[in-house]
Amino acid sequence: MSATTAPTSDATPATEVPMVEARGVHKVFGHGAGALHVLRGVDLVVPQGSVTVVLGPSGSGKSTLLRCLNELEEITAGSVHVDGELLGYRHDAKGVLHRLHPRRIAAQRSRIGMVFQRFHLFGHMTALENVAEAPVQVRGLSKAAARRRAAELLERVGLADRADHYPAQLSGGQQQRVAIARALAMDPELMLFDEPTSALDPELVGEVLTVMQDLARSGMTMVVVTHEIGFAREVADHVVFMDDGVVVEQGPPGAVLENPSEPRLQEFLSHVL
Ligand code: ADP
Ligand code: MG
Repeated sequence: MSATTAPTSDATPATEVPMVEARGVHKVFGHGAGALHVLRGVDLVVPQGSVTVVLGPSGSGKSTLLRCLNELEEITAGSVHVDGELLGYRHDAKGVLHRLHPRRIAAQRSRIGMVFQRFHLFGHMTALENVAEAPVQVRGLSKAAARRRAAELLERVGLADRADHYPAQLSGGQQQRVAIARALAMDPELMLFDEPTSALDPELVGEVLTVMQDLARSGMTMVVVTHEIGFAREVADHVVFMDDGVVVEQGPPGAVLENPSEPRLQEFLSHVL
């Protein structure tokens, strides 16, 4: 529903600021003859509390898009707003754009949680210490408070009994659940997942998807790059199919997955379904 047709009332604002609003995002790696134009004008709107699943073949720019949404990459053109705030830049009084101070960018980034295909846990720290680390280092939380909160989060991802285990003592699925708990420890308003189950043995995929589904049910706004079509069908509010740096087709999962109109999407689905 567009803002212009939505009914207005005093109780509910007609236009809710989307959690993510990416407009005309381009990303070019490198310069000159060696330049690689990876994102070619991506628009993406993610409403508050919704789940967007991003599909697309390898090399289509899915990871780059996610990295642009949390400023691991600086975009070449376009804009990204998260919860109404422009990422990476500010306008001065004359409307001229200025790059934000790295500290300010780090603060913006700390509101966005990211989970990667590889878990990147600290091997010399227990599960609990991994989850408690960033709130102490970045937020200045006391160690005791951070550990209490970490214990709660490990319980939430079903790992209360693994708090004192080191990553090497955990299965891949357990490590990924620790990584999710670690991201949640920073109280993000948005969670990005980049193929969170792709590195897992098949029998461990379900436990991670279940945690993600619970998180979605709790109202977390999520953007998830995954090839798990079942997850997209059941959990996503919106499915985006990317190819060659552009969004080729998007819409509700029913329409995009069951009745794709783009040949490239039909071809892609015939391989992953
Ligand atoms: P996907 O996640 O859909 O597989 P990526 O976003 O990882 O795709 O990559 C898209 C393209 O961008 C690929 O051709 C990849 O090699 C290239 N690419 C990604 N990151 C970089 C980088 N840091 N420098 C140069 N090229 C990159
Ligand atoms: Mg990728």
